[in-house]
Amino acid sequence: MRTRGAISRSLAEEMREAYDSVSPFIEHHTSRVCPDCLSVCCIDRHGTHEREDLALIEALGEVPPPERPLEQDTSPCRQLGEMGCGLMRWQRPYRCTWYFCSALLEAMDQEDPRAYREFIRKLRRLQDLRLAVWSACRETD
Ligand code: SF4
Ligand code: SF4
Repeated sequence: MRTRGAISRSLAEEMREAYDSVSPFIEHHTSRVCPDCLSVCCIDRHGTHEREDLALIEALGEVPPPERPLEQDTSPCRQLGEMGCGLMRWQRPYRCTWYFCSALLEAMDQEDPRAYREFIRKLRRLQDLRLAVWSACRETD
């Protein structure tokens, strides 16, 4: 599996911008919902990067966070600190941005419809770019 050079810098920059664009809306809601959560979703299995995540980080000239094997992959995620995730959103595995528990969805559902629609539009853009990253990675096989 090759990740270095799999995607262009411009595609990586677009992807990082797309992550940054969805982050405020998500964090507005996670900051309200997550502090009271009794079943935190950030287990270590979810903190493992996929090939496309690594290709993005490397294309941006950054070093991927070290993988740290734990005895149980249901232990708290290695990136989890007292203030939540220690990684910028674009440094996290893609799946982390796509997990919305029912409490989070409920909170988002109360949002102003225009703001919610705008968020969905940005989320779709992120999804399209991820597909482009996925395709570029396969072309290097
Ligand atoms: S996203 Fe949902 S499951 Fe995960 S920590 Fe927040 S409230 Fe808990
Ligand atoms: S959001 Fe951060 S802490 Fe949570 S599973 Fe993903 S990498 Fe780990």
